[in-house]
Amino acid sequence: MDSGVAAAAPDAGPGPTWQSKCPWGAPNTTSISCSLADVMSEQLAKELQLEEENAAFPEVVAVAEGPFITGENIDTSSDLMLAQMLQMEFDREYDAQLRREEKKINGDSKVSISFENYRKVHPYDSDSSEDEVDWQDTRHDPYRADKPTTTPRRGFVGKGKDITTKHDEVVCGRKNTARMENFAPEFQVGDGIGMDLKLSNQVFNALKQHAYSEERRSARLHEKKEHSTAEKAVDPKTRLLLYKMVNAGMLETITGCISTGKESVVFHAYGGNTTEDKVIPPECAIKVFKTTLNEFKNRDKYIKDDYRFKDRFSKLNPRKIIRMWAEKEMHNLTRMQNAGIPCPEVVILKKHILVMSFIGKDQIPAPKLKDVTLSSEDMKKAYYQTLNMMQQLYKECNLVHADLSEYNMLWHDGKVWLIDVSQSVEPTHPHGLEFLFRDCRNVAQFFQKGGVAEALNERELFNAVSGLNITADNEVDFQAEIEALEKMNEDHVQNHGKKLSTFSSDGDPPIFDE
Ligand code: ADP
Ligand code: MG
Repeated sequence: MDSGVAAAAPDAGPGPTWQSKCPWGAPNTTSISCSLADVMSEQLAKELQLEEENAAFPEVVAVAEGPFITGENIDTSSDLMLAQMLQMEFDREYDAQLRREEKKINGDSKVSISFENYRKVHPYDSDSSEDEVDWQDTRHDPYRADKPTTTPRRGFVGKGKDITTKHDEVVCGRKNTARMENFAPEFQVGDGIGMDLKLSNQVFNALKQHAYSEERRSARLHEKKEHSTAEKAVDPKTRLLLYKMVNAGMLETITGCISTGKESVVFHAYGGNTTEDKVIPPECAIKVFKTTLNEFKNRDKYIKDDYRFKDRFSKLNPRKIIRMWAEKEMHNLTRMQNAGIPCPEVVILKKHILVMSFIGKDQIPAPKLKDVTLSSEDMKKAYYQTLNMMQQLYKECNLVHADLSEYNMLWHDGKVWLIDVSQSVEPTHPHGLEFLFRDCRNVAQFFQKGGVAEALNERELFNAVSGLNITADNEVDFQAEIEALEKMNEDHVQNHGKKLSTFSSDGDPPIFDE
């Protein structure tokens, strides 16, 4: 089937009105009679398309000369190729017009204006892809900053034979080398400038492409990682540690996430095989301390002044500090367990992952006190139990919870269980008594609001827990006295290098560790 079809054939025959109005002209609908099989054949479709294309751009084919187009062997089956052909032709025509304008303006004048910079196709270097090279912010081009007058605006320096254009191999090569500095920081470019490396445009563009795709790839990977972190709530290293626990048979299965907090993620798991030296509870809670460091910054005050951890704190990197939180929770839970306070039992600590017994049943965690509706009797019971636990915690465990509230108390088996003790400190911590007072305020308010008539107010509760006898009848003075006591302790540390083992305000002298 040969071409010879007019580009537009308004009289080509009857057809729907859109055909005649179509800016590309109506397709030739003249006598093509063939069987259904022919119509369906791909070959025919291709030929028809070819015919249409030839009809639509007859001149382009006729005049075009260039790397793609030879005039005889034209492959117009690719849209991309066609677009390129058109673009090239357009550029050529544009440049020809530009040359004419240039000539007209300059005439015979001795001073001439060059339009070179506006040309589409460059006579010196058709693959220079200058526009591609200009992808980055050239204001920050280090090469330009150092040598701003490499090539003047007119595009060349020198005279006659010694003329050097901005496309000079050496100048261009150096420029390209300098531009490599603008690649993503992860992309290692070496010290090309120092070596006076001259990168050809071709090599530079290939490298640039590679840098680009690497950047995109790494962004995709990162995105994926972030996504999976959000999805599975843990990073790959943590996941590996968890798999190892399952593989070792310590855990049967990790069923899912119970809670995602700012500082930790808690999972439920079924316990694995109990061994001779390790009893694994049937259900476990896995607390994963988040390794995103930011959240822990504001917790510094709990740990850096805790003398148990003080020496180590200053020497540790942030990752290790996070492990220390997990370790702290483990130690504190163990102390509480030993004192008989209802709390999770520690199963194992692995880096920043603490496995403990699950408070709840059949994957359903026990509700927090804030979420449970208790009968007034249970409420009263819960109150007295809490008071008792606070006293035990202070006296027997030598601890202040430091984040005690209805959010960290679970109601299970008819009693209150204390959880979340990674931030708990000893009472002689520089802010220990302030933390205790805050705990007392939370507890007193909760039970008073909960209708427990017997509930002590925060100051009474503070004295009842600590055994101190601060008499101030308003909060401000009370707190001032607390701070005075803390200061006394600190002064003692300064002077004697050791802390009070406990506070006393009964008129007795403070008891010191000797
Ligand atoms: P966070 O520091 O994020 O508050 P928590 O230790 O309070 O960490 O745990 C968060 C939540 O996970 C708790 O409110 C509780 O619902 C659940 N949880 C934590 N430990 C256990 C456990 N041992 N048994 C059952 N649920 C638990
Ligand atoms: Mg909590």
